[in-house]
Amino acid sequence: MAIELLNKEFTITTYYGTNTMSAMDLGYYFEFDNAKRMFGRCFYIEKKITLSKPLCSENLDKIETRITNTMLHELAHAFCVKIYGINLGSGHGANWKSIAKQIGCDGERCYDGNEVNKPKSKYMLVCETCKKETPKYKKTKRESACAICCRTHNNGKYSDKYKLKLVVNY
Ligand SMILES: [Zn+2]
Ligand SMILES: [Zn+2]
Repeated sequence: MAIELLNKEFTITTYYGTNTMSAMDLGYYFEFDNAKRMFGRCFYIEKKITLSKPLCSENLDKIETRITNTMLHELAHAFCVKIYGINLGSGHGANWKSIAKQIGCDGERCYDGNEVNKPKSKYMLVCETCKKETPKYKKTKRESACAICCRTHNNGKYSDKYKLKLVVNY
């Protein structure tokens, strides 16, 4: 289902005109992750869309609604960032909402407060090696590496290999 939607071409009309695109065309790939609270995530820089394996398996009965909607939600983020750029296109503003509705998503935020717990911070720095997540309340441009991994694998010296990835939570 997720892969099908990743490949699917959507026609989106915005201020800039009408575009037909699929997330696949934009270079995105799909992966399950083990997130416990975030149903889906869209990584703009790495061009990756993830769905939570534990949350999906708990909601298999709602595959046509809940899971599909989450996937569409994340696709809307990918298209929105493509069309408006990362500064104007990220988040759940009017630009995103309009795209989300055009592709068949309900246009609601990533989570439903009653069903899935809400993460506290808007951004998160994630280490891909040890999976440690550090909440960030503001977007940061400064690059940093995972201190734990640098200490464990690199004698405490900075290494690009353990660079932290900025993730937008909602
Ligand atoms: Zn979102
Ligand atoms: Zn690490």
